[in-house]
Amino acid sequence: MTATLVFYSKPDPFEPWADALKPLLPDLDIKRAEDIVQPEHVRFALVWNPPSGFFTDFPSLQLVVNLGAGVDKLLKRDDLPDIPIVRLQDREMARMMASYALFAVIRHARDIPHFENAKIRREWSYIHPRPASEVHVAVLGLGQLGGLVATEIARQGYVTHGWATRPKDLPGVNIVTGQNELHKLLAKADIVVSMLPLTPDTYHLLDASAFKSMKQGAAFINLSRGEVVDEPALIAALRSGYLSGATLDVFEQEPLAPQSPLWELPNVLITPHLASVALPRSAAPEIAAAIRAVQAETPLNNYVRRDLGY
Ligand code: NDP
Repeated sequence: MTATLVFYSKPDPFEPWADALKPLLPDLDIKRAEDIVQPEHVRFALVWNPPSGFFTDFPSLQLVVNLGAGVDKLLKRDDLPDIPIVRLQDREMARMMASYALFAVIRHARDIPHFENAKIRREWSYIHPRPASEVHVAVLGLGQLGGLVATEIARQGYVTHGWATRPKDLPGVNIVTGQNELHKLLAKADIVVSMLPLTPDTYHLLDASAFKSMKQGAAFINLSRGEVVDEPALIAALRSGYLSGATLDVFEQEPLAPQSPLWELPNVLITPHLASVALPRSAAPEIAAAIRAVQAETPLNNYVRRDLGY
């Protein structure tokens, strides 16, 4: 019997993933979910947000590979079998995220929203640039993606702070840990970047009191999950002018509703959840390695800690 890998993702086309994986896993049958005829042969699932009940069709599953970094939706499902889950930890995906984060940080640090607005008014409106060494940036969440985001920001010369649950060593990043340190850190930063996964502990972590703890005039960047932020509180902080602006790639409801006040706020850049995406060629080797580890019954790297939620 040939073992099968089932693929499901709405945003990701099947062919590039099949083309990247086939040479690395020649003994596997790699199929789209709708083409599976013998569900009992399916041992591996490579999926992004499959429809509800998806996993119950595959009784012999041994491994779920999450076709992305965030596992919040996956872990909330009631059909998720009690088998290992791995998530992508692809370096190229991290680079794509870090490049977006750098763009967003530089956009605020160099007052670009001000010039965009001035241009609409045909106004030559000079603001003397601040050097990077005078701009404090706080990165919340220092994982696979967040860690590279923080080190790349530090590499540009920004005074870079990081926040995580456990201490770690990232070049050029001053790291603090634990809930008690969060508001003190927010108070230091000119720009705050959320790279936190959505878990029960981080849901609405950035609420009205967190925004109040930030410096007046600080900018906020959310590249991780919308639900980490209490969106009405963010809107209030932006509307009042307490925060100077935001770059938002993720939202509590996606797609963001046309009636959301965020669309109308000046100094808010909105992008439709694309700061980083799963990349077949660079991610295929780590997916193949995870499948090989399961087949050989050797320990898995990058497995998701269901108890922590990330
Ligand atoms: P990881 O799971 O690798 O790391 C999570 C980080 O957050 C770790 O540093 C962890 O601390 C820290 N953390 C978790 N919970 C807490 C808490 N309660 N308090 C303080 N720190 C906490 O995540 P990644 O860096 O790979 O990715 C981050 C998120 O980015 C993903 O979960 C996903 O939601 C989002 N994402 C968004 C994309 C987009 O296009 N906008 C694309 C891909 C991902 P510790 O290190 O101590 O464990």
